[in-house]
Amino acid sequence: MTRITVAKGDGIGPEIMDATLAILKAADANIEWDEIQIGKQVYLSGNSSGIGGEAWEAIRRNKVFLKAPITTPQGQGYKSLNVTIRKSLGLFANVRPCNSFHPFIHTKHPEMDVVVIRENEEDLYAGIEHQQTEEVVQCLKLITRPGCEKIVRYAFEYARIYNRSKVSCFVKDNIMKHTDGLFHKVFKEIATEYPDIESDSWIVDIGAARLADQPEIFDVIVLPNLYGDIVSDITAQISGSVGLAGTANIGIESAMFEAIHGSAPDIAGQNIANPSGLLRAAVMMLNHIGQQEVAEKINNAWLSVIEKGIHTKDIFREGVSSKLVSTSEFAEAVIEHLGHKPENIEAVIYSKGVQFEIPKYRRKPSAKKVLKGVDVFVDWKGDEANMLAGRLQKLNNGIQLSMITNRGVKVWPNGFDETFCTDHWRCRFEKLDGGEVDKKSIPHILSNAIEEGLDIIKTENLYEFNGERGYSLGQGQ
Ligand code: NAD
Repeated sequence: MTRITVAKGDGIGPEIMDATLAILKAADANIEWDEIQIGKQVYLSGNSSGIGGEAWEAIRRNKVFLKAPITTPQGQGYKSLNVTIRKSLGLFANVRPCNSFHPFIHTKHPEMDVVVIRENEEDLYAGIEHQQTEEVVQCLKLITRPGCEKIVRYAFEYARIYNRSKVSCFVKDNIMKHTDGLFHKVFKEIATEYPDIESDSWIVDIGAARLADQPEIFDVIVLPNLYGDIVSDITAQISGSVGLAGTANIGIESAMFEAIHGSAPDIAGQNIANPSGLLRAAVMMLNHIGQQEVAEKINNAWLSVIEKGIHTKDIFREGVSSKLVSTSEFAEAVIEHLGHKPENIEAVIYSKGVQFEIPKYRRKPSAKKVLKGVDVFVDWKGDEANMLAGRLQKLNNGIQLSMITNRGVKVWPNGFDETFCTDHWRCRFEKLDGGEVDKKSIPHILSNAIEEGLDIIKTENLYEFNGERGYSLGQGQ
C-alpha cells in the first residue's frame, strides 16, 4: 500500500480528479490518500504562496503527489505554486510523453511519439532578477554542472529503460557559449556512457521548428528549463489536445504528477472536461511507485475507450468519434473497459522494476582558478563612450580599462556611432600583459570610482578555470 497526497485543485480540477480517483479505485490501485487544500482559496485567504504548512507536511511525508490544476489569481504578489513545489522538493526532471492516437484523435502528426524531458529547477527560473539602472533590468540565467548532469543522465536512463533509441539535446550555445555551452558539453560527455543509444544536438530554434513540422524524427528530447517549458507545450498541443497529456515531476526523494493543462475556468462545473491528462499522469505515478500491472490495466482500458471513439467534447469529431460523453461518463467507460486491450492501437506493456536511480553527483577535482580581471558595471546617462572611458581610465590601479560594452556590444575602443546605447555600461579591467590580477585591485578601483563620482552598480570577476576562459568576450571584440 502506498500512501499518496492528492489535491483536487480549482476550476475543472475536482471533476477530473474525481474521475481519475474513481478509475484508480475500480482498477484496485494499491493506494490510500491524504487530501490537501492548495490554490485559489489559499491564495485569497492571504497566503501568497497558495499552500499552507499542513499541506507541505503531507506532501513531504508521503513523497508522491497527484495534483489537479490550480488557478493562480491574476495580479501582482501571487507566486506560481508549481514552481514553488518543484523547486522546494528538488523535482529536477519534468517528463512529458506526447504521442498521437491517429486516426482516433485528430492530429496533423499521425506518427509522433516524443518524450520531452525538461530541466526543472535552474536556468532563468532561478528567479534572480534586478533592476540595475532606470533603463535596464536583468534576470540571471544559472546553469550548473550538477543540474546538467542530473537531467541529462535522467534522460539517457529513461531512454534505456523505456526502450527508446535516441536522445536529442536542444540548446542555444552558438549564442550562450558558457551557460548553454555547459549543458551541451555535459550532454556530449554523458552520451558516451550510453553507446547503445543514439544522440544528436540541435540549436533550439531550428530544433523546435522541425519538431513542430516533423515530430516523428524525434524520440526523447532533453533541454534546459525555459526551452523545455515552451517546447513541451508545443509537443502536447500538436499531439491532439492539451487535455490529453500528463506530466511527471521527478526528484531524488519526491515526485509530483499532474495534467499539463490549467484549471480551465471557462468550462469548470459543466462536467465536460477531458480527464485524460490527469489520468495519464496517474498512470505515470503508478509506474513510479512500482504498480506496473495496475498502470498497464488502466492505460489499456483508456486506449480501448479512445479507439472506440468514446470522446469528451475537446476531442470529439463528427465521422471519427462514435459517442460524445461527459467527464463522469468517460470515467465510467474506462472503468467498464478495465481488463480490455485495444485492438487497433498498440497495447502498452510495462515491465516490473522500471524505477531507476540517478547516481549521486560527484564533484570533480578542484580546477586551477586564476583571476584575470573584473567587469565593472556603471549606471551612466551620457552617450559618449570616449568620455566615460576617460573617466574610467583614472581608476586604473594595477589593472587597466581594456573595453567598454553596452548591451554586450563593444563601444570602446573603436566603437560604431550607430550602436544604440542605454544607461548600463560594462567596463572591463584587465592586466595589459594578460597576467593574473591581484584581488586587492578591485576594491581600489571601486573606491576610486566613488571619488570620481561614478555610479557602480555591480562587479563580476573574470576567471580562467584550468586555463580556459570562463567569461564571454564583447560582441565585436
Ligand atoms: P488552461 O489549460 O486551463 O485552458 C486552455 C484551454 O484549454 C481552455 O479553452 C480550456 O477550456 C481548454 N482545456 C484545458 N484543459 C482541458 C481539459 N481537460 N478538457 C477540455 N478542455 C480543456 O489554460 P489557461 O486558461 O491559460 O489557464 C487557466 C488557469 O490555470 C490560470 O489560472 C493558470 O494560471 C492555471 N494553470 C495552472 C496549471 C497547473 O496547475 N499545473 C497549469 C497551467 C495553467
